[in-house]
Amino acid sequence: MMAKSLFIPGPVDVLDDVARKAADPMVGHRSKEYCALHEKTVEGLRNVFMSENRIYFGPTSSTGFMEAAVRNCVETKALHVVNGAFSNRWHQISKSNDKAAHAIEIPWGSAGRPEDVKDELEAGDYDCLFVTHNETSTAVMTPLEGFSEVCRDNDVLFCVDAVSSMAGVPLPVDDLGIDVLVTGTQKCFGVAPGLAMTAVSDKAFQKSAKTENKGYYFDYHVFEKYAKKNNTPSTPPIPQIAQLAYQLDRILNEEGLENRYRRHREMAEHTRQWVRRHFEMYAEDWCASDTVTCAKNTRDADLTSLSAELGEKGYLFSNGYGKLKGQAFRVAHMADRQMNELKTYLDLIEQILRL
Ligand SMILES: *Cc1c(COP(=O)(O)O)cnc(C)c1O
Repeated sequence: MMAKSLFIPGPVDVLDDVARKAADPMVGHRSKEYCALHEKTVEGLRNVFMSENRIYFGPTSSTGFMEAAVRNCVETKALHVVNGAFSNRWHQISKSNDKAAHAIEIPWGSAGRPEDVKDELEAGDYDCLFVTHNETSTAVMTPLEGFSEVCRDNDVLFCVDAVSSMAGVPLPVDDLGIDVLVTGTQKCFGVAPGLAMTAVSDKAFQKSAKTENKGYYFDYHVFEKYAKKNNTPSTPPIPQIAQLAYQLDRILNEEGLENRYRRHREMAEHTRQWVRRHFEMYAEDWCASDTVTCAKNTRDADLTSLSAELGEKGYLFSNGYGKLKGQAFRVAHMADRQMNELKTYLDLIEQILRL
């Protein structure tokens, strides 16, 4: 089977030296070796998250920690800003956990603003606000400034899904007043899937102590008990953690965060210009994502055959998500993708579609 370059927004290509770390000799998860690896990983994440909050990671995809946020933090009512498929998923998670939940619907392609939630938070009996920082289905990045103030004024916890943005764009968790941050390995971190990470503020942690019916697997207090010993409650995906620790070292000490952010921004700007030249942007300009771009299929191109032709040439194409299939397509420019690779891919699309 020919390996393909993944231009989908996760999972992404994993660099060879990062991938190889998964083949390190296995260790027991209660061993000294594992504890050292755990501690090092927490420290690396602390620098990327820019946060002093409690940091947990464990054996789940990111959706698991989205569910954890709901189970630990919502007692009275959840308010969800819904502007695409992943923010809608968080709302569904709240409802399926039998929580009272309300969604503020924002048109797809746009983003919510603090003033959109203010009146609702003041009027309702809410205790948590859920915002998807980078809505991967529409390639919309929501500016997060101002949300935490509205939350604080209403004694509401601020929960953020940064699954497809953390480590690609600056996201200072503490400065932004984020109480629960959820992210995962297989997007901007450029690590194999199967491991998710979360950061939990004191306020959210204390709230969790009083919340009922949290279950066991995702209880922050169970995580904390083990985190104190640089460990996890259940057996973690040690190969992915070894990759993540190595990758964090690369990101922080080899490439540098600022360079990484700049590379993402430049690839995003290039992709947006390309889309404007040949198609139309799906996202409004003020909230277009720096890690993935969504193009409206204004030429009515046959995206299924485009995908097949790109596949033959060794590329995995990303059609529109869910209801946008055929009507839009996405180009991921995240993790360790380089500008020259992106240009080659976009050139190929031009050739195939004769643009
Ligand atoms: C990928 C993604 C998820 C889901 O992540 P899994 O690891 O598949 O559970 C959630 N939210 C956003 C914004 C995503 O991009």
